[in-house]
Amino acid sequence: MASSDAVRENGDVEEPPRSALIFLGTGCSSAVPNALCLIRPSDPPCHVCSQSLAIPPEQNPNYRCNTSLLIDYCQAGDEHKYILIDVGKTFREQVLRWFTLYKIPQVDSIILSHEHADAILGLDDVRVVQPFSPTNDIDPTPIYLTEHSMESISMKFPYLVHKKLKEGQEVRRVAQLDWKTIETDCKKAFVASGLEIIPLPVMHGEDYVCLGFLFGGKCRVAYLSDVSRILPTTEQYISKDNGQQLDLLILDTLYKKGSHNTHFCFPQTLDAVKRLCPKRALLVGMTHEFDHQKDNEFLKDWSKREGIPIQLAHDGLKIPVDL
Ligand SMILES: [Zn+2]
Ligand SMILES: [Zn+2]
Repeated sequence: MASSDAVRENGDVEEPPRSALIFLGTGCSSAVPNALCLIRPSDPPCHVCSQSLAIPPEQNPNYRCNTSLLIDYCQAGDEHKYILIDVGKTFREQVLRWFTLYKIPQVDSIILSHEHADAILGLDDVRVVQPFSPTNDIDPTPIYLTEHSMESISMKFPYLVHKKLKEGQEVRRVAQLDWKTIETDCKKAFVASGLEIIPLPVMHGEDYVCLGFLFGGKCRVAYLSDVSRILPTTEQYISKDNGQQLDLLILDTLYKKGSHNTHFCFPQTLDAVKRLCPKRALLVGMTHEFDHQKDNEFLKDWSKREGIPIQLAHDGLKIPVDL
């Protein structure tokens, strides 16, 4: 990651990275605040969730929508492509909040990690970021997903998949998507809006394979949002021991203590960060057990001790990267 005042050997001032990662969401499936903490408050009330009644979401790092990342990819010139990873239940709210702040005019392609509710239930709302046409006469947005996700989505959103009208059926405006299946195989890279992306299969519960993604030719970024176990083949692609040190690891962490059958919790997350040894790590997927300020203080000490900078991400966090 270049700093804005870096100077090249030939004396030219080096351009700051024009690509960026925007964390549209950093929370668990039920999102934070946890509704129960507000409608049936405990005594004393939950500190993290109560904050949402006093602090506006854009100023509250403990307000977390479903985990989702927007890659603002600037390949050449001033042309920006916007690649969206996952479209959860809170997608529209995330668009209203962060697309407006960062002046994001469109989504150019979509990548799905898996077909759980917090990764796909916003698909109906993709039309809010598409040009308006009452007859659906627009270019469909490419969407990359596994065969398994495709099967599941065909049942949940048949009207987004089967576009042919039956005889006598009226046209209704729906999101226009161009479905493209990808493999759960690190060796089967695909290209979304000009950016090469390597699928990183991981276990999300022992009965379920979810995809993480590795991208960036200059700055190597891995995104693992839903993981309970990292497969050895995937680990080979992203660990320092295998000579593949990441510049940035974005990693799942659900609860503070113990373990969970389908997600890393804090202890497993920290173990994985130590093992993979990226240059930097940011955590996503947190429940209301995590307090942004307090836990980031703890992580500051951990980072000093272990020599790997790591922090909890927050909704709206934007990181310049040179992809
Ligand atoms: Zn709470
Ligand atoms: Zn999931």
